[in-house]
Amino acid sequence: MARFRVIKSLLLGGALLFGGGSAGAQEVVNIYTTREPGLAAPLFEAFTKATGIEVKSVFIKDGLAERVKAEGATSPADILMTVDVGNLLDVVDAGITQPVETPALKAAIPANLRDPAGNWYALSLRARLVYTAKDVVKLDAITYEQLADPKWKGKVCIRSGQHPYNVALVAAYIVHHGEAKAEEWLRGVKANLARKAAGGDREGARDILGGICDLAVGNSYYVGLMRSGKGGADQKKWGDGIGVLLPTFEGGGTHVNVSGAAVAKNAPHKAAAIKFMEFAVSPTMQAVYAQQNMEYPVIAEAGIDPVIAGLGKLKVDPISLVDIAKNRKRASELIDKVGFDN
Ligand code: FE
Repeated sequence: MARFRVIKSLLLGGALLFGGGSAGAQEVVNIYTTREPGLAAPLFEAFTKATGIEVKSVFIKDGLAERVKAEGATSPADILMTVDVGNLLDVVDAGITQPVETPALKAAIPANLRDPAGNWYALSLRARLVYTAKDVVKLDAITYEQLADPKWKGKVCIRSGQHPYNVALVAAYIVHHGEAKAEEWLRGVKANLARKAAGGDREGARDILGGICDLAVGNSYYVGLMRSGKGGADQKKWGDGIGVLLPTFEGGGTHVNVSGAAVAKNAPHKAAAIKFMEFAVSPTMQAVYAQQNMEYPVIAEAGIDPVIAGLGKLKVDPISLVDIAKNRKRASELIDKVGFDN
């Protein structure tokens, strides 16, 4: 075996020497990502298999923008991957991305889910949903506006208002209805809280089963993670025990946030980076990537995990993510103003 490996590597070396790089065996793309390493691994492996381009990924939990900025012109980063439109805008604001516009990318990703200048593209969607006490709540549909209806007084669970998921939701509310209405809504939701706005989305499901609340606001992929058993037996019970509604804004759709990617400003392998972006938005890879974390693909025709597909048909809110992101600061101030987390 050892001998075979030596021979094989010699052969590969030879191919590199004489191939002039056209075989691409030495090509590399460096991906900095804030996502857990396992989530994108199948995408990376498929890319290498399809193109021969090696993916070197670096997991950076916090401070991705600071790191790339500090590395400056010699940064090895080709692709920056992160979650939440706020983080995508932050890397653009940090000046560490470059616009990339190719027909394939523009055709694949709807205009409201990418940067108008081409600095970033959404790669997957997570919807902000309403979990319900299914024996008590006999509804087929609900709007975000209705979460403030006094009929739910003492019945609503939600995590901290200042969590980025909720800040983005409030920002979307501002885009739809303006700041004054958003404040009124926040006061209404606050008055309906069953407990302090805290914990995570999955605790909303837990507290529904515990009889504390009838409605809880939570992301779509947590339902998938809970119901698939990936989070353990307790969470499976919570996931199976709740009902799930896909809420919409009045006159709009369901609020989504994204995971996405950008080509780094000083990408040493720009061509490979663009190839990676185009690969990631192909229907097959969209399905692979989205299903890995129980998210929705950005491309409508790509496959969805059956657990998530079973929640109902997602009608993505048509307002622009950029407009949502622009209102984050005002949203955060409003959340404080009404004392949402107190
Ligand atoms: Fe999350």
